[in-house]
Amino acid sequence: MTARTEIVDQLADIPNVSVFQGILLSDRTRFGIGGPAELYVEASSEPAFSAALQVAQSSGANFSVIGSGTNLIVSDEGFDGIVLRFTAREISSAEALVRAEAGAELQALVDYSIDHGLRGLETMTGIPGSVGAAIYGNAGAYGHSIDQRVERVRFLDRSAIRSFSAAECQFRYRESVFKKRKDWIVLSVDLRMTPAPAAELRQTADEILKLRLAKYPAAMKCAGSIFKNLILAELPEHVRRQIPENVIREGKAPSAYFLEQAGAKGMRSGGVRVADYHANLIYNQGGGTARDLCALIDELKERVRARFGLELEEEVQYVGFCAT
Ligand SMILES: Cc1cc2nc3c(=O)[nH]c(=O)nc-3n(C[C@H](O)[C@H](O)[C@H](O)COP(=O)(O)OP(=O)(O)OC[C@H]3O[C@@H](n4cnc5c(N)ncnc54)[C@H](O)[C@@H]3O)c2cc1C
Repeated sequence: MTARTEIVDQLADIPNVSVFQGILLSDRTRFGIGGPAELYVEASSEPAFSAALQVAQSSGANFSVIGSGTNLIVSDEGFDGIVLRFTAREISSAEALVRAEAGAELQALVDYSIDHGLRGLETMTGIPGSVGAAIYGNAGAYGHSIDQRVERVRFLDRSAIRSFSAAECQFRYRESVFKKRKDWIVLSVDLRMTPAPAAELRQTADEILKLRLAKYPAAMKCAGSIFKNLILAELPEHVRRQIPENVIREGKAPSAYFLEQAGAKGMRSGGVRVADYHANLIYNQGGGTARDLCALIDELKERVRARFGLELEEEVQYVGFCAT
């Protein structure tokens, strides 16, 4: 690896790049958990991010790209390398085609669309995080996910800017090609929306926001759902037979159902606990660590495995653990 001071100098020389040494990632995650990043770099334009990424890639250091930190478990030891964040956040439109830079908050995009009388994202109101990560994890809620509106995604592949159609992005439930190719970094997205009365869209969004805030209070240190739900058609017949029909939503069996049967609600590990009212929601009640979180996640997976023979898969993403 190139000497650290040399990397810092190279990064600091790039216009529109800010470099921080040793900042705590717990201040950059909604869980409020995570040790220091050796280097933390924010870039506010595409050329700046591209140049910073090239420095990171050619330095031989580990690097990881994060967004707003709302879906991350960062190791207590932090990240031994370079953490990069793309913060360009412009949103614009031409008729019903909306373009958003990846560093924009998804909520800003939802609000922009509603204010411009464009239907398509209003049910995603209240999902925290950035547009780039929403593409990476195909974010969605209340029967809609972002892929349904994607026309093209522009991304960085080393120093080249490329673009994919929605089909090429290989979107599935909470999946995209960008989860498989973590070195491809989303820069912007074009979304095809449908004109609709703004007041009607705002009413839908307000109703959904009320429900969401009851489930996820604004100050709750959490990552939303810890585990992905399970696609019903992919479950073994003996498991399917055990699931009551009224818990099935949009062809999926909620992980919360299996977790609840396994006694997850209210479970604790150090400073983190499973919500009493939702078995797929873990939060940091104060003083929680990544070690506590991982121990609780392992215990929950083990219980569901033992009881149902099912392997739950985390929706949350890890930073600073082996291979991340
Ligand atoms: C209270 C709460 C409720 C939630 N509810 C929902 C919900 O209803 N539906 C839902 O889908 N999610 C939900 N989530 C999860 C979270 O909001 C999403 O996963 C969100 O997209 C994460 O955005 P972020 O910017 O915080 O990403 P981060 O948590 O910072 O990163 C997540 C992943 O995205 C990758 N990434 C970030 N930026 C880029 C980029 N530009 N290019 C490529 N990869 C990138 C990172 O490498 C990382 O692996 C919820 C979270 C919370 C805290």
